[in-house]
Amino acid sequence: MSQLPCPHCKDHGISWWQKYKAAKWAIIYCEKCGKRSCSHPFILVFYTMLYVWDVMLFGYLFYLTGNWWYALTLLAGWIILDIFSVYLPVCAMKPKAPTTTQS
Ligand SMILES: [Zn+2]
Repeated sequence: MSQLPCPHCKDHGISWWQKYKAAKWAIIYCEKCGKRSCSHPFILVFYTMLYVWDVMLFGYLFYLTGNWWYALTLLAGWIILDIFSVYLPVCAMKPKAPTTTQS
């Protein structure tokens, strides 16, 4: 299975499934270096708006008219957005701040 390059180590340590999950606001970890990455939040906000627009518009039109073509368009739009979501760029995250208690 082909792997995608990690923004930290540039090695191919990110799977397509991880990239898909990153487009759903998940934090992903490189299999080679173990560092954290995510999709860029500004792009994800725009992309999530597209999902909402797809569901609101075609779901509402389906609700109003009962025409199944609107439901099919909603489903097709959802699948197209899911397919393109794996091509969203992944950016590197800083490591977590240590949670040590100093007294
Ligand atoms: Zn890496």
